[in-house]
Amino acid sequence: MSIDSLHEDISKCVEPFYKKRLSLIQNLIGNKVLDALLYMPSSTIETVSASELTPELIEKNIIITVKVEFIEYAYFSKTRPITVTCTIGSNRIELLFFNYKPCYLRGTFDVGKTPKIVGKLTVASGGRYQIINPKKATFKTKVGISNVYPLRTGITQDAVNSIIHKALDITCGAEIHEWLPQKVLERYKFYSFFGSLLAVHNPQTIDASLLNNIYRQRLCFDEIFAEQLVIQINKAQQLSNVFINTPQKTNQELVKELVSNLPFELTNAQLNTYHEIATDMLKPTPMRRLLQGDVGSGKTIVAILAMLNAIEMGYQCAILAPTEILARQHLQTLQKYLEKMNITVSILTANEKGKTRTQILEYVATGITQILVGTHAIFNDKLIFKNLGLVVVDEQHRFGVVQRLALIRKGVHPHILSMTATPIPRTTIMSMYGDIDTSSITQKPVGRKEIITKAITMERIAILVNAIHRIIEQGQKVYWICPLIEDSEKLDYTCVIERLEYLRKYFNDDVDMLHGRMDTAEKQGIFKKFSNGEIHILVSTTVIEVGVDVPDATVIIIENAEKFGLAQLHQLRGRVGRSNLQSYCVLLYDKNCTGLAKRRLKIMTQTNDGFIIAEEDLKLRGGGEIYGIRQSGRKQYRTFNITNAMEQELVNEFIITANKITKNIAQNGSMQLYNDCLKIFQPNFNCDVKSSF
Ligand code: ADP
Ligand code: MG
Repeated sequence: MSIDSLHEDISKCVEPFYKKRLSLIQNLIGNKVLDALLYMPSSTIETVSASELTPELIEKNIIITVKVEFIEYAYFSKTRPITVTCTIGSNRIELLFFNYKPCYLRGTFDVGKTPKIVGKLTVASGGRYQIINPKKATFKTKVGISNVYPLRTGITQDAVNSIIHKALDITCGAEIHEWLPQKVLERYKFYSFFGSLLAVHNPQTIDASLLNNIYRQRLCFDEIFAEQLVIQINKAQQLSNVFINTPQKTNQELVKELVSNLPFELTNAQLNTYHEIATDMLKPTPMRRLLQGDVGSGKTIVAILAMLNAIEMGYQCAILAPTEILARQHLQTLQKYLEKMNITVSILTANEKGKTRTQILEYVATGITQILVGTHAIFNDKLIFKNLGLVVVDEQHRFGVVQRLALIRKGVHPHILSMTATPIPRTTIMSMYGDIDTSSITQKPVGRKEIITKAITMERIAILVNAIHRIIEQGQKVYWICPLIEDSEKLDYTCVIERLEYLRKYFNDDVDMLHGRMDTAEKQGIFKKFSNGEIHILVSTTVIEVGVDVPDATVIIIENAEKFGLAQLHQLRGRVGRSNLQSYCVLLYDKNCTGLAKRRLKIMTQTNDGFIIAEEDLKLRGGGEIYGIRQSGRKQYRTFNITNAMEQELVNEFIITANKITKNIAQNGSMQLYNDCLKIFQPNFNCDVKSSF
């Protein structure tokens, strides 16, 4: 038996009796024998044989012989069950059959019969014993602990169990090399791969489905190990084949020129991060660096310095933003700073069309354009750079790995600098990209005042009108954020319109709106009016969330703040407090909101520190979704649940360990040893696009 049997069709494990359900089974479990082996139980249940009903049996699966007393058919209802009332000695029990036709029960459950049944004992209100959808016990019904697997309609536990056990029968004799290093096996006291699989599917204890089970842990480690291995192999290959042009040490003339003309002093944190970047750019291999810094900490200027350094080395640069508004803002900022320095900046988004587009493409191809600003639309293009040396990716978590790779697949291997305001835990970075270098801006520009944050109930909305009048009189500006109503652009839009009408009563033409239904040119027009002061109040949905920089906007009012997550509230609040003016954030909430929502609002009023907020966020979510990162972009694991807080710590430790050993393996090891592991956990490895970012 060879390991190839793992990759045979799952139908080999499906008994003839279940064959007509094959496509359902494939949907639930997968197409291969291997998928059945790695189909993990969600919990366990204990089955005991009983002769009388006692409270200790509640919540257990019991096998018991009952006497049928009477039957109640719910002829006129599809949702109500058939109720069969039975006795066991002096006790009564109700058997409820949902979705059963009376004819299914006839014979076994006729009045006076004494069937032996199996099912989970529960207690209904009033203390009545009940079993929902019990089965007739057969000689196959086993006493003891068994797994409960996730199901879908049309597939029973019995079916899943039989498929998995067949898969174990077929494969467990397969010859397989141990792929985990001896050190790891000893450290965690792991058993062999097949030994662990067998144990996971034949549980001996009631908590066997949890990750504190040593067998399950082994599988979990294997999965993480295989993932890290792929990341590290890709990275090693990429870096060994790639040499960016021989790096040129520069005199940093351009950088010095800009710094001496800046209207402010750079913070030490900004200078340090710039130096880390500049050092990377002197190495022969491309930089992969993540620049983290809280909202408003001044990441953009660091990126501009890095780009100037690259230009002086003779390269072109690109800066990518997640939205068009942000791309245009970057263009403006760049033009403002670089105008006098004779540096050519162009923009390319979906809105540059026809002749303009052709022209820009030509500028980029011939090297006239030194900095290209764009959105990800850049990737869908016949864009060719003459000599691309640095790509800056702003708010990087909005970018898919695939998009980043599209660039690299164009055959260029520029330095890549990603910037994010979201503190990403180290282990998350590792499981996404392996190891990358990170820099952090831990300090805000001097003179910044804490944003004063207040939470008030929606009823008190009227007091805001006076406050806004005072702000506008001082020439400052106000954002008014309406919630994005999920799946309903229409509602979303009415919400913004209503608020606009309300505010127009007091502020006439000094207010306008921005929402997802407008086209980009329209949005751009309105946003420009706000940023250059034609209007002072901007009613908007959360389209404004990321990166927007209007320094004299000092107030942000967030409606239905209870509906937002902490990360999003912090991002939104970061739209103000971007100058030395005192800024304010008002969180309007519904007084009937949940306790959890109120705690979020309280945290917002207590701190301005993004790192503290990230930590609190993790606590409140119980380690669930990781702060601000859209989990949808991340893959699911088979052997553990990334959102389970209890498991998080162990998983993190595994990631760190696996990261360390795979790095070594990828550089010095013989890949042969790990083939089986990769075949099992990373079957698409060869065409896998996943790579170091
Ligand atoms: P973020 O890190 O959120 O992207 P930005 O780069 O947009 O922040 O910077 C926020 C604002 O702070 C900008 O208006 C920028 O000009 C300003 N700024 C950046 N660095 C400094 C500094 N050292 N001193 C004063 N203002 C600064
Ligand atoms: Mg920014």
